[in-house]
This record gives sequence, C-alpha cells and structure tokens, in this order.
Amino acid sequence: MSRAVRTAVGSVAIACAVLALKLGAWALTGSVALLADAVESVVNVAAAAAALAAVRYAAIPPDANHPYGHTKVEYFSAVLEGALIVLAAIVILQEAWGAVLTPRAPDQPAAGLLISAVATAINGAWAAVLFRRGRAAKSPALLADARHLIADVITSAGVLVGVALVVLTGILWLDPLLAALTALNILWSGWRLVRESVGGLMDEAVEPDLLARIRSAVSVNAEGAIEAHDLRTRHAGRLTFIEFHLVVPGAMRVADAHEICDRIEAALKAEVDGAVITIHVEPEGKAKHQGILVL
Ligand code: ZN
Ligand code: ZN
Repeated sequence: MSRAVRTAVGSVAIACAVLALKLGAWALTGSVALLADAVESVVNVAAAAAALAAVRYAAIPPDANHPYGHTKVEYFSAVLEGALIVLAAIVILQEAWGAVLTPRAPDQPAAGLLISAVATAINGAWAAVLFRRGRAAKSPALLADARHLIADVITSAGVLVGVALVVLTGILWLDPLLAALTALNILWSGWRLVRESVGGLMDEAVEPDLLARIRSAVSVNAEGAIEAHDLRTRHAGRLTFIEFHLVVPGAMRVADAHEICDRIEAALKAEVDGAVITIHVEPEGKAKHQGILVL
C-alpha cells in the first residue's frame, strides 16, 4: 500500500470514528446543533471514501488510453468534496432554523460536550497530519480533505461554544445562531475548494512565484540557445507540465541542441517536483525577441 493510499484509508477510519462519537453526543443531549455537527461527519465519511478511490486511481501509471497519467482524477474528488461541504452547510442552516422555531434545552450537556470535544480534537489532529502529507505529496485530494476537516473542526467548536452558552445562560436561540454562523464559514471553505479544483481541471497556469522560478531555471541553463518563448505551464495533481519553444542558431547540430534541452530539463526537474517537460527546438528565424532571454 502506498503512503497516499494508507493516508486515505486512515481518513476513512477517522471519519467513521468521529461520526460514531458525534452521533453519541447527539443521542445524549438531543441538541439539534450537535445533530447538525454529526451530519457534517456523515459527509466526511463519504468524502474520505471518494478521496480514497481518487488517490488509488491517481497512482495508476500512464497507459495507452491515458498517456498523460491519471493524476487529474484528484480534482474530481476535490470538486465532489467541495459540493458535499456546501450541502452539509445547507443541512446545518436548515437544522438551525428548526431550532429557532422550536427551541429546547439540551439533556446531559456535560457528557455530550465532552464526547463532541474528543471527536473535534481527533479531527483537528488528523487535519494537521493531512496538511503535512498533502503538501509533501502535492496532492489536491489530501489538501482538500485537510481543509474539509479544518472546516469541520471550526463548526464543531462553534457548536460546542453554542451548546455550552445555552446551558450556562439559558438563552436557547444562541444555539441555532452559532450553528448558522459556522455553516456560513463552511460554505465559504467549500466554495474555495471548488474554485481551486476547477482551476486544476481548466489547466490554470502555475502560481506566479513557481512560474518565476521556472523562467529563471530555463534562462540560466539555456547557454548556446538564443531565446525561449511560448512557455506554457499547468498542474495535473502532483505532476507539473512545462512546455516551450527554444530558439537556437539554424546551423547548430541537432545533437548540440538536444544537449541544451537535456540540461534545461535536468535543471527544471531539480527545481519542480513531478515536472514533465516538452521542448520544441526552432532555428533562429523563428525568434520572437520576447519571452525568456537566455543569460
Ligand atoms: Zn516558436
Ligand atoms: Zn531527448
């Protein structure tokens, strides 16, 4: 089992454990806010299972049918997860409205809050693990999972505070109010997740600072060439595709031009993890006198 698959399996297990705890907290208290919090965990279980399927599929090497590999599947998982986050937020808003209409005080609040706090701590710890592993593996699915869990931790914290305040003050409408506020926060995180993943699906260019590093790696290592132009970049999960035209003197031997390409490719692979590079060599008549100048 690869590290990514082990992580995804861990997510499914954690999500199930947290769901069980939160259902327990709801059963003890009968609080709608805690029920809404548990609903969010049902979404976690589904999302973690979807992410597991995506990570397994993304690891399949390129084949005749998918010559660029299968890494983009992670964006589908992230879009699905974003949609689920939005759905969970709507469910929570609905529950909050129900609690506004028929307010009631929670039973056994201390036990319920304690169990919910334990579940929230587990989620928070696992989110930190996912952020670290997701960054290391450049996996949008893992980072999406981590952000989802953070959103979950924030909701749970809001719900915990709300239920505690309801118990302490006896003001019953505080409970749905805090649940609604945290639902809005979840909506925002779901929107950002969808936005980012759609960017990946639409072949958005790499971030400006990475682009600057790519341009300087080409420039510094292209000695013997005249210029590089038409640089295009895109991410596909953990892979980063880089392609451009390299203008060389028309009389240069193919072997010499290829040597320059190999040098640039080695430098780019050292600079960018998972770089997949395509260079199109042109004679000097094709120079555009713009783009990357060779130093
Ligand atoms: Zn060209
Ligand atoms: Zn070659």
